[in-house]
Amino acid sequence: MTLSETAFAQTAWSLTDLFPGPDSAELQSAFTDLDARVAAFEVAREQLSPAIDPDVFFGLIRDLEAIEHLVYRIYGFAGLLFAADTQNQVAQTLRARVQQFMAELANRTLFFNLWWKGLEDADADRLMTGSGDTRYWLEEMRHFKPHTLTEPEEKIVNIKDVTGSSALQTLYDAITSRYSFNWEVDGQVRELTRGELNAFRYSPSADLRARAYQEEYRVYGHDGPILGQVYQTLVRDWRNEQVDLRHFSNPLAVRNLLNDIPDDVVDTLLDVAQDNAPVFQRFFRLKARLLGLDRLRRYDLYAPVADSAAKRYAYDQAVDMVLDAFGDFDPRMANLTHDVFATGHVDSEVRKGKRGGAFCWSVGPDLAPWVLVNYQGQARDVSTIAHEMGHAVHAMLARHHSVFTFHSSLPLAETASTFGEMLLVDRLLSAESDEAVRREMLFQRLDDAYATIMRQSFFALFERQAHDMIHQGASVDDLAAAYLESLRRQLGDAVEVPEEFRWEWVSIPHIFHTPFYVYAYAFGQLLVLALYQQYKAEGAGFKPRYLSILSAGGSDAPARILEAAGIDIHSRSFWQGGFDIVAGLVGQLEAI
Ligand SMILES: [Zn+2]
Repeated sequence: MTLSETAFAQTAWSLTDLFPGPDSAELQSAFTDLDARVAAFEVAREQLSPAIDPDVFFGLIRDLEAIEHLVYRIYGFAGLLFAADTQNQVAQTLRARVQQFMAELANRTLFFNLWWKGLEDADADRLMTGSGDTRYWLEEMRHFKPHTLTEPEEKIVNIKDVTGSSALQTLYDAITSRYSFNWEVDGQVRELTRGELNAFRYSPSADLRARAYQEEYRVYGHDGPILGQVYQTLVRDWRNEQVDLRHFSNPLAVRNLLNDIPDDVVDTLLDVAQDNAPVFQRFFRLKARLLGLDRLRRYDLYAPVADSAAKRYAYDQAVDMVLDAFGDFDPRMANLTHDVFATGHVDSEVRKGKRGGAFCWSVGPDLAPWVLVNYQGQARDVSTIAHEMGHAVHAMLARHHSVFTFHSSLPLAETASTFGEMLLVDRLLSAESDEAVRREMLFQRLDDAYATIMRQSFFALFERQAHDMIHQGASVDDLAAAYLESLRRQLGDAVEVPEEFRWEWVSIPHIFHTPFYVYAYAFGQLLVLALYQQYKAEGAGFKPRYLSILSAGGSDAPARILEAAGIDIHSRSFWQGGFDIVAGLVGQLEAI
């Protein structure tokens, strides 16, 4: 079944559903309107009391929703304009102006958040009754009540963060983004960016793969003692604030509450991941055999097993493949995807100055999302379209929710995207008769599974250990040694891990910027594997449950959304199920 009567061409997107242009009167009046709405809301401060009339309260929430709607539109327009042309001065200026404006707005409406968190439970419960779709948003804010300081203290923390932890993170970025990497070609040394250097990880040449990693950690290792010291300070600051001042039980618990995932679930997830390290070790042994090596080196983890990069797909063909794969699952998914293309919200061209990579941006529940890809015709690019359109479908299925609750929370954010990729790959696999191409597709799927599940889980395990070690007074060298040991434990005797990998952790920005963020990747990927397995086992009966997870958006806690679909994330066997699927895929490859 093909929905598109006329093929969609590879073009830039249109932003006119937001504003006619950066200099338009419409955009200017949106700024003015927003400012007036915030000023009116600030006056409402006087109406806030524990005895506030529920209707007055709901009216204020509707005012806040209207403000948020406008903020999303303006912010989305500026961000999308900039992504389409990062060299455009008008876009740069508008983006900076919007960021400044948003920061001011956030400060001006902060009083509502603090007042709401400060209410007694009985008063808050009274107001939440009848709050409809915004209930979870209100409830979630209050989770932080036991960890909130007084208004003057909160302000001091904010001000000191600017010159404290935020400044250190900026310094980390400033130091590492200046790095250039030496690369010798035909006796001449060129300077490469990290992106250019990392491309060699996928090189068919064993020598180039090794040289790329050695050069990367030569540079990071040289600054290792300094970057490590930045990390130690950030970790101490995290503990001082979150554990000592805000009384979280441990450094990881903060992230769990932000994700609204119970502590025991994350502990179980990380535990099961450790136990399953041998599954990927089996995969790496198999890869070594196919590459003709006795043992894989850490340099070779992403080495290609065959040259299938030659196979190309025309853009309109790729769009049809995605529409067909989604439509086979459920016609609604194909129809929604078709809408995104038909509204002209897709920028698929490759242009100078355009942002690299891909994303899906849901500007508001009332608008089809915007999708950016840099389509170059490889099988990987077709997967990327499926991935981003999965995000778009997720947002559109949840569009009946409030602007505060339609966005899914972080642990569920990659559900529809990854599931969409799997639908596409399965379709490609069933249509592909060439064994070499099939094998390459399966290998890529396992490469991705390794990078999102095992690698990220071990980053989180290392972070947990590092936070403890630093609290006990560990040196940077102690941390580097602990990292190397943990990596060697992860890869076992299947992979040789050279000494320079002791510095890998100082090259991971997430660890510096957003402590414990990384486990959400493993959570998302394992969840999708388990869901996909249920789909395979149950067929049509599974579909309504899956669609109900997506249409819940961010309107409830992840654990409750999944529980309603019959999934218990507290159970060890649920997470083990994800690894069993990986083991099954490895078995499939061993058999080919
Ligand atoms: Zn994604």
